[in-house]
Amino acid sequence: MTDLRFRGAASPPRRVHDPLPRRVDALVARLRPEEPVHCLRPAAVEGAARAFLAAFPGETLYAVKCNPEPAVLRALWRGGVRHFDCASIGEVRLVRSMFEDVAIHFMHPVKPRSAIREAWQRHGVRDFVLDSAEELAKVLEETGRAGELGLVVRLALPKGGAVYDLSGKFGASPAEAAALLRAARPHAAQLGVSFHVGSQCLEPAAYARAVALAAGVIRDAGVRVDLLDVGGGYPVAYPDVVPPPLGAFTAAIAAAVAEHGLSGLALWAEPGRALVAGGTSVVVQVQHRRGDTLFVNDGVYGALSDAGAPGFRFPARLLRASDATLAPFAFFGPTCDSADHMKGPFLLPADAREGDWIEVGQLGAYGAALRTAFNGFDRAAIVEVADAPLLETPGYGIAAAA
Ligand SMILES: *Cc1c(COP(=O)(O)O)cnc(C)c1O
Repeated sequence: MTDLRFRGAASPPRRVHDPLPRRVDALVARLRPEEPVHCLRPAAVEGAARAFLAAFPGETLYAVKCNPEPAVLRALWRGGVRHFDCASIGEVRLVRSMFEDVAIHFMHPVKPRSAIREAWQRHGVRDFVLDSAEELAKVLEETGRAGELGLVVRLALPKGGAVYDLSGKFGASPAEAAALLRAARPHAAQLGVSFHVGSQCLEPAAYARAVALAAGVIRDAGVRVDLLDVGGGYPVAYPDVVPPPLGAFTAAIAAAVAEHGLSGLALWAEPGRALVAGGTSVVVQVQHRRGDTLFVNDGVYGALSDAGAPGFRFPARLLRASDATLAPFAFFGPTCDSADHMKGPFLLPADAREGDWIEVGQLGAYGAALRTAFNGFDRAAIVEVADAPLLETPGYGIAAAA
């Protein structure tokens, strides 16, 4: 049995202590929910974490921004994750409030001074990322230049093969990065280089190219470097996307590290999506049908933002028996904004109609975390279920608890 929590985007969780079934179908039959229901699958998250840790030849830092739900963080911990990549003081506080014994790494290259100070003084954070001389000075000033400091220089990458390109905002050029490594070396107990190939990267070779670039920067810097952080970006399956298996990515990284003489460095990864995407589905209700478009009670200002402009497709199923053949549907979300549109297509029985419930899967990454309170549609229920994810991603061997 599980229990139900309600949470608005801007209000604290409210628990209803009414034991519920742990299967989505039974749960929906019982609740008949008129607000979106987030169905968490802790077993899937734990399994994905175990698989990633087993495959990756180094430390695994979970990128908290991807899904900061406490139940998800606990599942990752059970799966063996002991390092957390945080980007804000809010994330640092959350992780530290939940786990005393984990390492928190502050991996945003532009941080408020107060956040650096608080992370260093109160939360035991020792590793900070930077991509400019100004940020290096800030970190040194706010941490008192103490001898335990880990400094990681973020390297910019050329635009690559990722669905979400992250090359435009952060990162130093190779020449700047080499200069920053030289400037940081005297202050660092641990010195590193990091990069991010972009999210949902479908190309193992993108990591190999980035490792080669980092190796060149390390050579040019001419100082000892202790660690290489190959970032996030590992992909998951979506209805029209079967990514290469996880092993293809870890093999490409390991081969590039060896080829470029970096085997002596500690290796870090910062997966987000790969660990948590399969761990949450959202049950929505149909409020109106207009032709092939369903008006549902969650949308791009809720957990389905990636189904909007980014155009990701998600697996969907109707929570009712139907003999109708599958047909492609688009969704409108509940807000009054006509941009609250998801072209899908979502494949559902052709007789889908008002009142039906639909479960949409693979929303654990950048779904729940991006919800807004726009237009007053800020409520969703959160439950833990034992169902398998709607889609499995090769290499993660996720088995839900029975
Ligand atoms: C968002 C982010 C990640 C996680 O990326 P995924 O594509 O979800 O794996 C890792 N590192 C940094 C620096 C990020 O900004």
